[in-house]
Amino acid sequence: MRIEVGDEGGGKSMDKCSICGKTYPETTLKKMVQISGRKAYLNQICPACQAIVLNNPSYYYLEEKSKKTTS
Ligand SMILES: [Zn+2]
Repeated sequence: MRIEVGDEGGGKSMDKCSICGKTYPETTLKKMVQISGRKAYLNQICPACQAIVLNNPSYYYLEEKSKKTTS
């Protein structure tokens, strides 16, 4: 038996959740930074896993828009 795996909807880019490994549309996944020791890792996290990692103090949302702090 042969299973064909193709792009559903065509042209939509899919990506994997860094936590559960399930595939989601790129727009669904949030970029979050995991701080581990002195290193930071960029993760793409699905809505279900976001609920989990939000309770984890080593994960941060990656701000995509550049914020300027005026002092
Ligand atoms: Zn996930």
